[in-house]
Amino acid sequence: MHRLFISDLHLSEDTPEIESALEKLLENERDLDSLVILGDFFEAWVGDDDDSDFVSRIRAQLAACSDRGCELMVARGNRDFMLGEQFAQDTGATLLGDETVINVGGQPTLLLHGDTLCTDDVDYQQFRHLVHDVAWQEDMMAKPLGERRELARQLRAMSIDAASNKAEDIMDVNQETVRERLAANGVQRMIHGHTHRPNRHLVDKAERIVLGDWTANQGWCLRERNDHLTLESFAIS
Ligand code: MN
Repeated sequence: MHRLFISDLHLSEDTPEIESALEKLLENERDLDSLVILGDFFEAWVGDDDDSDFVSRIRAQLAACSDRGCELMVARGNRDFMLGEQFAQDTGATLLGDETVINVGGQPTLLLHGDTLCTDDVDYQQFRHLVHDVAWQEDMMAKPLGERRELARQLRAMSIDAASNKAEDIMDVNQETVRERLAANGVQRMIHGHTHRPNRHLVDKAERIVLGDWTANQGWCLRERNDHLTLESFAIS
């Protein structure tokens, strides 16, 4: 089994370097059996009906990957929380729920974006509850694409503002919540992104692996090969 876990690429029209780094990665890793995207793949997602050139290019990249026989799994993040079944169908991906347990390196492993672990950020958790409401999302999808794009732009600006005013530790995971989710899922390992603090942590006897965010200079992935896991960074040029 050769699998990569990635997250937090925050792809948008404004990230051509990251877009081509993704293309290169998929090109260089032709023997991949599985690619798992753990959220915030996109900087924003206004709906699966987005017909922009940018979104079409990314869709095509992922579709080419799954056409080659690579299993594709995608979780939603706090930016691209509106990713839906149509996107999954268009790219040949399986859309993951908030928490998914799969076998990684011979061990049941919890996959999640990571925002649900940041329970100290009460404002964010309230916002999350609101925008994950089915009625709220239906309401949003009833608006024309142009209007949704404008709302996404405003939301993004608000989120950047809010984050700049928050204490560092509020933006990280809550250790009690981590233990609780490991226990609730009966696993000894979790993999998530979101916090942009790539690392491997011991939590009692369990492990918490944090994926890194991609910037114009650097990308991150967790590689699973023959039951062995390595957290890797690579230069983007
Ligand atoms: Mn995130």
